Amino acid sequence: MEGNELKKKNKLLWYLIPIVLVIALLVAGFFLLFNNKKEEKEEKKPNLQDDYYESINYGSINYPFIDAQRNVTTNLMMLIKSIESDTTFTNENYINFIELYDDKEGREQAGIEALKPYFEEIDNASNLDEFTDIMLKVDYDLGVTSLLNWELGPNLYDTSQSLIIFEPVLLEDFKTFTLVDGMPSGLEFFTSEEYSKYKETFVKARIEFLKLYGYDEEKATQVSNDINEFAKVLQDKSISINELHGNITKYFKLYSKSDIDNTFHNLPIDKFLSKYNISDNDRFAVIDEGHLIELDNYYTEEHLPVMKEILKVLILERVASINSNSEYLKVFADCYASLTGEAVNGVQISTFYEQMILKPKLMGSYLNIKYDEKFFTEVEKLEIVELINKVKDQYKEVINSSTWMSDSTKQEAIKKLDNMKVNVGFVQRKEYPVDAKLIKKDEGGTLLGNYILLNQDESSKIALKINDVYYPEVSHFMVNAYYNQTDNSINFPSSFREMYRDITDKYEIYGYAGAVVAHEISHAFDSNGSLYDEHGNLNNWWTDEDKAKYDELKQAIIDYYSNYEVLGLKVNGEHTVPENIADLGGVKTILSIMESENATKEDYIKFFEAYAKLWNQKVNKAELEIAILSDNHSPNKVRTNAVLSSMDKFYEVYDIKESDKMYVAKDKRVSLW
Ligand SMILES: [Zn+2]
Repeated sequence: MEGNELKKKNKLLWYLIPIVLVIALLVAGFFLLFNNKKEEKEEKKPNLQDDYYESINYGSINYPFIDAQRNVTTNLMMLIKSIESDTTFTNENYINFIELYDDKEGREQAGIEALKPYFEEIDNASNLDEFTDIMLKVDYDLGVTSLLNWELGPNLYDTSQSLIIFEPVLLEDFKTFTLVDGMPSGLEFFTSEEYSKYKETFVKARIEFLKLYGYDEEKATQVSNDINEFAKVLQDKSISINELHGNITKYFKLYSKSDIDNTFHNLPIDKFLSKYNISDNDRFAVIDEGHLIELDNYYTEEHLPVMKEILKVLILERVASINSNSEYLKVFADCYASLTGEAVNGVQISTFYEQMILKPKLMGSYLNIKYDEKFFTEVEKLEIVELINKVKDQYKEVINSSTWMSDSTKQEAIKKLDNMKVNVGFVQRKEYPVDAKLIKKDEGGTLLGNYILLNQDESSKIALKINDVYYPEVSHFMVNAYYNQTDNSINFPSSFREMYRDITDKYEIYGYAGAVVAHEISHAFDSNGSLYDEHGNLNNWWTDEDKAKYDELKQAIIDYYSNYEVLGLKVNGEHTVPENIADLGGVKTILSIMESENATKEDYIKFFEAYAKLWNQKVNKAELEIAILSDNHSPNKVRTNAVLSSMDKFYEVYDIKESDKMYVAKDKRVSLW
């Protein structure tokens, strides 16, 4: 669920966007909100020379991200309440929609009635043409992209342009069921041994949805098996996320309309374009051509029965719970609990959705502006801007002192820093106000019916949006920060300030916020970011020789992290390398600032301790397993210990000796800079 409802056309944003464009600090979402503070096991406090993270956080019940998120959510709820009771607030669509939303009984009664015509039309489709019509109608009206999977996104080679990107179909919607807003794990995940464990849970949820729809157990199981068969055909033809990561120029291909016509013969692209009023002259791209060609081969009359069921399942999974009917929510909650061992109930999911997604989405930028007015002072904003500028300046020194980079590549890297945009707090982008008039309850409106109106309204604007610059949609109310590759910008939503609300010491602030700022800046030079130039376009600015050295360092970082494990689970060094590069570069840069400020040993201790506290979080093994498979960040403990074990200063400050577990031989320590 998590935003699928109103985040129209964003369904597969997570396939491309979070990986390639927005490199956030952590996997946000439900893990953060539902991470109940867990009982600390009564183990002996380790020496900080052996396990710095556990030692510093021993017995601590301060979890900065969770605590900050809780405060932000509380602030947000208060603000929404005060806006709703303000008589000058006259957003009629909002009032009408929320009235229906608040009518929990009415929602239960209405059920999925508004979806019935879609299901009927799917059932009645007797040939491929008729199926295509209903498939595109579902796409346009419900925001459920299915067998023709597409996205409005940036042209990675010229990010001042938007285009339509045709993308792989991922039926195993990991995000839908885990409610984790991170990257998917791609082929390596779906074919991994670990996945077979989860697969059972996903399949069970799918069967439950089909039963709610009206199939008996046998039919639901049969349909689910057919869908698995289909998924397998595509899976075998797909590239892995790591492969995509490392070779984005190979897999992100620009297409003209005639390229499309020459490559795809069955997929109904012409019908899709005319449905959305997109012209042949507009721009297109294809990700993972091999997968799409396989899909094109599949899209035939022969497979009509399975394709019909696939479409139904996707509607059930992604839209049926918009009414928050308790029975549909229960499937989500059970699935989440089975995956993570954390009991979550439908009410929690529904409340999260309402507070963090639905209401903010309906209020639009109005709410973001009000939030910043109330909870983010000009002084706080200036302080963050100042901190960012300080880190940016020092980063130039760090790059200049690099021993392996040639002068010409250094100049290019510094150009990227000079051009980096700094966004702190809410930044107003071009908006497309809703033209649809939602229907009130007493005029016969239903929540789902109005949801369809909102989707249609958004669909009607795709043709306009192609002509604008694309910006990723990132929640203003998630405690996070991110680097956006496609415009070379570092972004700090005001909610991030909550992370260190009560911290006043300069060096502690470096540990909490400075390291994060430097982490985000480092993303400009991680294994993905380094492929983009100062304007955010895919463009190689490296000499061959420097690139070869970079790849050597990157491999050393992959090997280094692959040696770490938490709760017996091995870190995937390859999967996490962009984030690890950013973590290492982040801490290194702050240490370099401190050196220039002649920091004392006590100052360094403050910084290191704050950095370890920043990451304090308790996760159980099941959650960690999912995180290792799906999150491109290393586990928090590793984000602390592995980074510090590679910093010479850390050895000096804490007198780390060869016999200590934090010790790593000097020639084995890693970092780009
Ligand atoms: Zn990051």
